[in-house]
Amino acid sequence: MDCVTKEEIKKFAQQIGIDLVGFASPDCLKEYNNFLKERENLGYSCSIEERDIQKRISPEFILPEVKSIIAIALSYNVKHEIKYYSRNYGIISRSSWGVDYHKVLKEKMEKLSEFIKSKCQEVKTAYLVDNNPLLEREIAYHAGIGWFGKNGLIINDEYGSYIFLGEILINKYFEPDVPQKTKCGGCDLCIKACPTKAIVEPYIIDANKCLSYITVKKGKIEGKIAKKMGRRIYGCDTCQQACPFNKRAKKVIRPEFVPDKLLPRHDLIKILNMSKKEFAEIFGPTSSSWRGKSLIIRNAIIACVNTKEKSCIEPIKNLLKSESPLLRGYSAWALSHLCDKDKEVVAEIKEALIEEKDEFAKEMMAKAINRLKG
Ligand code: SF4
Ligand code: SF4
Repeated sequence: MDCVTKEEIKKFAQQIGIDLVGFASPDCLKEYNNFLKERENLGYSCSIEERDIQKRISPEFILPEVKSIIAIALSYNVKHEIKYYSRNYGIISRSSWGVDYHKVLKEKMEKLSEFIKSKCQEVKTAYLVDNNPLLEREIAYHAGIGWFGKNGLIINDEYGSYIFLGEILINKYFEPDVPQKTKCGGCDLCIKACPTKAIVEPYIIDANKCLSYITVKKGKIEGKIAKKMGRRIYGCDTCQQACPFNKRAKKVIRPEFVPDKLLPRHDLIKILNMSKKEFAEIFGPTSSSWRGKSLIIRNAIIACVNTKEKSCIEPIKNLLKSESPLLRGYSAWALSHLCDKDKEVVAEIKEALIEEKDEFAKEMMAKAINRLKG
């Protein structure tokens, strides 16, 4: 008799608050070798993706004895809704409203692993959330967690696509579950809604245009794309908001994913003035902190320009003296958009330029002065 069955694992997972569980073969990713090569050749991969294709399709690099993958999903479709009262509010992806999901999922997968280990001798596991090169969505698809939507996300009939994914690699064989066919049909609402046309064709996403990546990308953001960011300061939910499957998806009561420090995290002025300590307090417990304070402030500066919010001008001026060259450059850029031909502002940027040593900041400041001079 088997030491533990799939049904027992699914039942325990449900008891500890995991919404969905499925099983996949570790070989299920091998078929994506050419897909990944083609994506790379077309320039659709982004800088945070692992370049070594073998690492993306080989779970055995993480657990050499792996015989199955247990895929899990947890809905973050909480009943809470955020009301963006004023233009001074930046938008944060729903996935980062509450506490860092990596922590929440890891705890649940640890419990699930311990449960299996309590039933079976010599079981080895490795659990992963998002912080590894493996193709997570493809694993979830093969494990029957959901089907691929044209926006490249996994959609579950009951929970929609607002689901966090995790995987347990295990050295024990389980019969794989059956993948589900797409149910998008003739719908193309996500493709139409995408502000940057990042869904280049159904199921194919150009990550370099996708705002979920752009908002966490280091350095400069191309001007045309920055405009499309609107007030987004972390991530993008637009294609998910457009999806009819999310409109009728089940809501969950999960206090850990409800934002408790709502106002400071969304208040653009507060973000622009934020110290290291305040960043650690306000953003630290959430997944939106992983790329650091400067990127969130850069995005807040861009949001101020996109909303033409004059109350941002004074805090942005202070950033001309920031420790970060990225922010010194972006503050000059923003002032040139928010302060039409203002001689005092030109003088302030000129003064900053005299002191400036960083090439990027210098270039942004010089361009800003020219723009302000008209
Ligand atoms: S996350 Fe935003 S930018 Fe990316 S594909 Fe969806 S709508 Fe487009
Ligand atoms: S919006 Fe329509 S096309 Fe896009 S994922 Fe949802 S159902 Fe599919």
